[in-house]
Amino acid sequence: MSKKFQDFNLDKQIIKALYNLDYNKPSKVQCEVIPRLLNREDVIVKSKTGSGKTASFGIPICNNIDIENNNVQALIVVPTRELALQVKEEISNIGRLKKVRCSAIFGKQPIKEQIRELKQRVHIVVATPGRIIDHIGRNTINLENLKYFIIDEADKMLNKGFIEDMEFMLNKVPKKSSIGLFSATIDKEIEYICDKYMNTSKTLEIEYNEELNKKQIDENLFISNENDKYENLKKIIYKENPKSLIIFCNTRDKVTKLYRNMKDDGFLVKELHGDMSQDKRIFVIKDFKQDKFNILISTDVAARGIHIDDISLVINYDVPRDKENYIHRIGRTGRKDKYGKAITIVTNKDEKYIKEIEDYIGYKIKELQELKCEEIIEGKLNFEKSSKDILKNKRNKVKNEDIHSEVTKIYINAGKKKKIRVIDIVGAFSNLPGINNEDIGVIEVQDLCSYVDILNHKGDALVKKYKEISIKKKMVKLRKDRQN
Ligand code: AMP
Repeated sequence: MSKKFQDFNLDKQIIKALYNLDYNKPSKVQCEVIPRLLNREDVIVKSKTGSGKTASFGIPICNNIDIENNNVQALIVVPTRELALQVKEEISNIGRLKKVRCSAIFGKQPIKEQIRELKQRVHIVVATPGRIIDHIGRNTINLENLKYFIIDEADKMLNKGFIEDMEFMLNKVPKKSSIGLFSATIDKEIEYICDKYMNTSKTLEIEYNEELNKKQIDENLFISNENDKYENLKKIIYKENPKSLIIFCNTRDKVTKLYRNMKDDGFLVKELHGDMSQDKRIFVIKDFKQDKFNILISTDVAARGIHIDDISLVINYDVPRDKENYIHRIGRTGRKDKYGKAITIVTNKDEKYIKEIEDYIGYKIKELQELKCEEIIEGKLNFEKSSKDILKNKRNKVKNEDIHSEVTKIYINAGKKKKIRVIDIVGAFSNLPGINNEDIGVIEVQDLCSYVDILNHKGDALVKKYKEISIKKKMVKLRKDRQN
């Protein structure tokens, strides 16, 4: 009999949040991992991209958070800022009704604000390594109450560039914490870490079966001359007519060059790479998720973990130099139970790398046949029409808008500078007719403004009724938070 979330004996607020998120039944990785982490065991998990890994640790962590304890109880480290934000969002969604507060901490944000944030009530921190080590060094994060330490994309994090940082952190984690390593690609190199710091060395290999991966992602090679790469790329796009597409290049310069060419040729395209400001990167991903454009050109920044629904095609404009990244890149499509296609453009310089990839995945990738002229001409017309439709906003739909229709995030135009504290916000809102303590969710007080989640479907009516309320005898303005 297939498992249900109810079988794990989870907090009823977590079950309700999962229902709101449309998570009807646990995925395979979740069936394996949730009971172990609920039990505070160590786990090493190898599971394909898009299989629900994040929730497999997010659910048990949120479930075991003691919300009366204001200290950090779970630390999750991830390699990129984008992933930090995405993991934070997913965990916040899972824990929202239980009032679990999750923060993302990464570089290039003002450290002072983060210090202030960490002093507030934060139960779960999702962080990139450099910045969290900075906080550990400054004693601005207290790890004494840590129950979980999770390393996401563990193979990358336990590799040369990060390993010293990881060992530094592993040495700071209380012995009683449960440690979880997660990735789609994990190999022997991590054994040393498991032996030294963990109570297990057994990897849970879940659904990592080429047959399944092959079925969900139709993988292809397209052989091209170096000089014809761009023309062939356009032909592939027209022939395939994807609803949305990610193109990967190996360097930032190549991303920008291709982006300029495609933009000049009238494609609805945006670029994503590490040279862009954090805000810009976040907006690009958000716009892509909301179907505001249909082609994203990216470096490997987007290769790991970023989940965007309905990517129908991934093109490797450059063959990845790291065999593992091939799996991560193509894993942007064919997620959950969907099907997708991946096409890798190969020139004679790339043969060595393709061989390495094929040895690694254990099967040969088939070659795409010559593209037919008539298919390309017809496809071009169709693709241009669907891009125009996007421009006209016909297909724009704000996804996830109603995920938590029972939760409304409200912005308040006053914060610490006006001496407002969490308790004042609770007091003011629970004094409003029809609102009681159970309807007030996570509250965040910043310097100049604050945010409060209003639960149980009561928030929308509340912001309609009250444009202003009195908090500590001061009139403050309210509105629905625009980010939500
Ligand atoms: P991940 O592998 O963590 O990147 O998850 C892939 C996608 O699956 C994310 O959009 C999750 O929100 C979604 N997801 C995770 N668990 C479930 C579930 N049990 N049912 C439906 N969707 C899920």
